[in-house]
Amino acid sequence: MKEYYLGLDLGGTKILAGLADAQGNIITRSRKETEAELGEDKIIENMIETIEEVLNKAGVSKEQVRTLGIGSPGPLDAKKGIIIENSNLPWKNVQLVKKMETALGINTLLKNDANAAALGEKWFGAGKKVDNMVYLTISTGIGGGAIINKELFSGVNDNACEIGHTVIDPDGPLCGCGNHGCLESFSSGTSIGKRAREAAAAGKSKKMLDLADNIIEDIDAVICAQAAYQGDQIAIDIFEKAGYYLGIGLGNVVNIFNTEMIILGGGVMKASDLFLDQALKTMKDIALPGPLEIVTVKEAELGSDIGLMGAIAVAMEDRLIKNE
Ligand SMILES: [Zn+2]
Repeated sequence: MKEYYLGLDLGGTKILAGLADAQGNIITRSRKETEAELGEDKIIENMIETIEEVLNKAGVSKEQVRTLGIGSPGPLDAKKGIIIENSNLPWKNVQLVKKMETALGINTLLKNDANAAALGEKWFGAGKKVDNMVYLTISTGIGGGAIINKELFSGVNDNACEIGHTVIDPDGPLCGCGNHGCLESFSSGTSIGKRAREAAAAGKSKKMLDLADNIIEDIDAVICAQAAYQGDQIAIDIFEKAGYYLGIGLGNVVNIFNTEMIILGGGVMKASDLFLDQALKTMKDIALPGPLEIVTVKEAELGSDIGLMGAIAVAMEDRLIKNE
């Protein structure tokens, strides 16, 4: 009997599911609204329906599916299969794995989305040829995942690689986690947007105000990037500064992990030409010669598929390691 793997990428607004063959090629995929506002039971119902749709489209039965991998925003307990809570989803201590296994009868594994994305890039993306890599997603927040000797390094209770919450400057801005000066408070899309609004409110950037039709609240990282591409010096400086602090974070990653590769993904990377050179320069200043010598920094390759391919990699991780 042919065997298959399922991946499900759970987001605050949409659910993506895909069915893959034993080589990790996606055969069918489906998408549904999360409908987070309708509550926990409805979200789970939507997840189950998305998976059933994917299987129906492919004409594959549940019995032919080896494992379902789920990538979800956290914090969560991957070993217990529990989502602890999430700011975009209305749930607390949800036994997600148990509920999915009961409903579908398919062995299910859960990982946080940044860890899943790291696995996706390792097995299907930019990290295919290396055994040791760190993945960083730079989007609304900054998350990470480390692959050490081909395996995801999760930490004892699943909290490893919170690189976004490593402190870069204790006198820096307040972070959502309560600390001051976390990497996330300098270089995430959210923090870039915040800096941009502050600059516009202080009358420093007419360009950003124009692009936002004079509504300061509408200024975000995307508008800041547009202004920078149109030559607005303040916007350019905001990205360069974000790049500088990202470079400190990357230098720390190089010194701590000594991996062959660091892969950068997430929405903010769409504007990478505005900050990456600065980030790499700072990284090289901070990193020690030994680990710096062997590390390569690459952009993620999976693009908008990273969530889904990450979830499939979660489902296939054991098989992929054995097959190598
Ligand atoms: Zn923080």
